[in-house]
Amino acid sequence: MKRPIVGFRMDEESHWVAELSCGHGQHARHVPPLSERPWVLSAEGRAARVGTELECVRCDRYEVPESWEPYRRTPEFTEESVPAALRAAHTTKAGVWALIQVVRGRLRYVIHEPVERAAELVPGSPGVVSPEVRHHVEPLGEVVFFVEFWRAPQLRSTQRSG
Ligand SMILES: [Zn+2]
Repeated sequence: MKRPIVGFRMDEESHWVAELSCGHGQHARHVPPLSERPWVLSAEGRAARVGTELECVRCDRYEVPESWEPYRRTPEFTEESVPAALRAAHTTKAGVWALIQVVRGRLRYVIHEPVERAAELVPGSPGVVSPEVRHHVEPLGEVVFFVEFWRAPQLRSTQRSG
């Protein structure tokens, strides 16, 4: 799946990593003659690449970015109380991942893009929702489920003591 570059950071080995809108990173190394990316060494060169789309294999595998953490969850819904918005095609925002957690029963989870595919969710096997990818759910008989939203770790302000 293609994801735009939103910024760059340097890893522990001083190699540049392109940060994608989904939260995944992708190395953009300049290690001549193996990989030639002299542009990555300058702030201007990196800035010019922001917005460029890269193929993200970790999105294709539905991997929630490593350091992401849950920050909000919906109430529990049943087949009767599931909001219409969840039954119709919808997406999460850029950078926001979600897990659809079934507590009881079964839920059909349909992903619309890049190719349509469906899965049956049961307790213990959550459906992973990738940012900005259209999807919807359909109760399969009686079901209880909730949705848990995950985002990048937030910078916590440190309190000064003394
Ligand atoms: Zn990704």
